[in-house]
Amino acid sequence: VDTHEIPEDNLTMDNDNPLRPKTLGDYIGQDKVKENLKIYIDAAMQRGESLDHVLLYGPPGLGKTTLSQIIANELGVNIRITSGPAIEKPGDLAALLTNLNEGDVLFIDEIHRLNRSVEEILYPAMEDFAIDIITGKGQMAASYHLPLPRFTLVGATTRAGQLTAPLRDRFGVTLRLELYSPEELSTIITRSAGILNVDIDHDGALELASRSRGTPRIANRLLKRVRDFAQVLNNGKVTCDIARTALDKMEIDELGLDQNDRRMLESMIKFYNGGPVGLETLAAAIGEEAVTIEDVYEPYLMQIGFLQRTPRGRCVTAEGYRHLGYDFGKSNNQ
Ligand code: ADP
Repeated sequence: VDTHEIPEDNLTMDNDNPLRPKTLGDYIGQDKVKENLKIYIDAAMQRGESLDHVLLYGPPGLGKTTLSQIIANELGVNIRITSGPAIEKPGDLAALLTNLNEGDVLFIDEIHRLNRSVEEILYPAMEDFAIDIITGKGQMAASYHLPLPRFTLVGATTRAGQLTAPLRDRFGVTLRLELYSPEELSTIITRSAGILNVDIDHDGALELASRSRGTPRIANRLLKRVRDFAQVLNNGKVTCDIARTALDKMEIDELGLDQNDRRMLESMIKFYNGGPVGLETLAAAIGEEAVTIEDVYEPYLMQIGFLQRTPRGRCVTAEGYRHLGYDFGKSNNQ
């Protein structure tokens, strides 16, 4: 087992991101998830046991990585952060696992992208806290049974359905993160502004929040850009007006749709009469990956009622038409 090359991607560099809350108390929103998680953590600690393996799923930027760090922090253990694509060989995973201490958290982002041979090592590791490693070939082959410390695997994925059934079954706890409400995002923005020393008023925060597509990562990103506009145009103060001006300049509309969202909806209206259109067809038409459409564009567009998924494909709703300035029920073909 090569322990020098422990695969960890750039996620670890983000570890000291000052905007990440460190405790469940600081983690805003996701109340159901927090409530249950607190019980599981308290119960495991009272019994002096490791926490069961946890699967977190939901669109990108909703706080899965952050939550995994909070879990480790609340448990008072260390965390190792890696991702599915970063673990190339079974030996890579074995190196990670054998370096854990009792009770530690191993976070695997994009866990649905683990390759098959790695995933098969993970099953006994999760279930029996042991792995069998075969070294050498032919007559020199030898098999080692390696007991592991009792660890907690926290896996993150955008959709639970992407996981193979045997992997999914091995998680004792499955938690789904939801898009955040504008009020929750506004609290997150105000908190981030405090950390970044940005002067923002209530209306400014709410304006940013309502254009952040339910996603804290986007909210924090927009806050940083709006801060630039405020600095140059308004002595650093973020007001509703400055937020509006900045977001208009960035071509993010009042509901948070950007050029990509609009381009997708418009293609559906112009070329497919609003749908139904199949995912792959749509992906080809706008030159995007199908997974990007499913994970990044669709959740928010469905949440605000602009897009519907039907068995025959995706459809733009009457509201979607109206927002983009098209007549619903008429042909808008070009
Ligand atoms: P994911 O792993 O789901 O893609 P992250 O955990 O990286 O998302 O979160 C993205 C950013 O959003 C982080 O920088 C974090 O500061 C912020 N964030 C996410 N969830 C929350 C929350 N509930 N409260 C405050 N900030 C959050």
